[in-house]
Amino acid sequence: MKLLTATREGQGEREGDFCHALEGELVMMGWVCATDQNDPLGGCGCGRAFSGLSSRRATTTAVVRDLDLTSADVELAVAAQFDADGFSPEVMGDLEYAYLFVDTVGDMIKFGAVWPVGTVVRRLLDSVHLP
Ligand SMILES: [Zn+2]
Repeated sequence: MKLLTATREGQGEREGDFCHALEGELVMMGWVCATDQNDPLGGCGCGRAFSGLSSRRATTTAVVRDLDLTSADVELAVAAQFDADGFSPEVMGDLEYAYLFVDTVGDMIKFGAVWPVGTVVRRLLDSVHLP
C-alpha cells in the first residue's frame, strides 16, 4: 500500500527545511506544540514536520512510496512505537489511547492514498499538501 515516508527530496526548496528522519522510514503526523499550533510557520517547526516512526526525528518533506505493508502492519508499527514511547491504555486511559491510535493510523493510511507514488508532500498542522 502507498504510505508517506521520510525523504530528503524537496529539501531546501523552502526556507527552514529540515530532514533529521531516516530516508525511507514511515512517517506519522506527530504532536504539535502550542507555539506552532498558534503559528505553524514560525516557532519550532513541529507544525510543518512529519515525525519518523522509528527515529522519532522530524522532516518537512515526505514522499509517497508503495510499500509491501498492509494496514495491519501499520497498526503493529504504530502500536510498537507507542509502547516504546510509554503511551499505553493504562497510562492514557482506554478511550484516549484508542482515539490517538486510530487517528495516527488513519492519517498515515489516508494521506498515503491521496497522491501517486513519488509525490513529495509537506505538512501544515493537520493537513498534508503538495509543495
Ligand atoms: Zn513545536
